[in-house]
Amino acid sequence: MIAAIGQDSHRFDFANPHKKLLLGGLEIPGAPPLLGNSDADVVLHALTNAVSGLTGVNILGAVSDELCLNQGISDSRVYLREALQHLGELRLLHASLSIECKTPKLSPHIPAMKAEIAGLLGLSVTQIGITATSGEGLTDFGRGEGIQVLAILSAARPGFKNDS
Ligand SMILES: [Zn+2]
Repeated sequence: MIAAIGQDSHRFDFANPHKKLLLGGLEIPGAPPLLGNSDADVVLHALTNAVSGLTGVNILGAVSDELCLNQGISDSRVYLREALQHLGELRLLHASLSIECKTPKLSPHIPAMKAEIAGLLGLSVTQIGITATSGEGLTDFGRGEGIQVLAILSAARPGFKNDS
């Protein structure tokens, strides 16, 4: 079994009334959007980076810039799918996400977010863990300036048995 970490953070775009806050492919109403050229889905970006940690093929950066700036694709689900194409024979086992922010309150959205991410990764909801914290306001995320996400993915090489 192997595991990989991914991280991302974005600032809130308080002045933008046209963009929605997307987290894990889910629209979160009543909260400011995040700043970024893409849809700025910080959860999917952290996951995409974790997939890159497994595959060694980086997507966020040159590849996502090409998709976003030159092809006009701002949907972060496309970047995640692009990263997943490089898994080869690796089989995802579990995703663990830790989200740090002051706002919005995420606990009501976690079940739907798990379902969305499970669908994107081809896992069941029982293979997704999501926690959210404000970190007692010790960071800019905890003070309400943006959102940070850490993601850890584990995966199995061919022949790995994980049913013990
Ligand atoms: Zn990002």
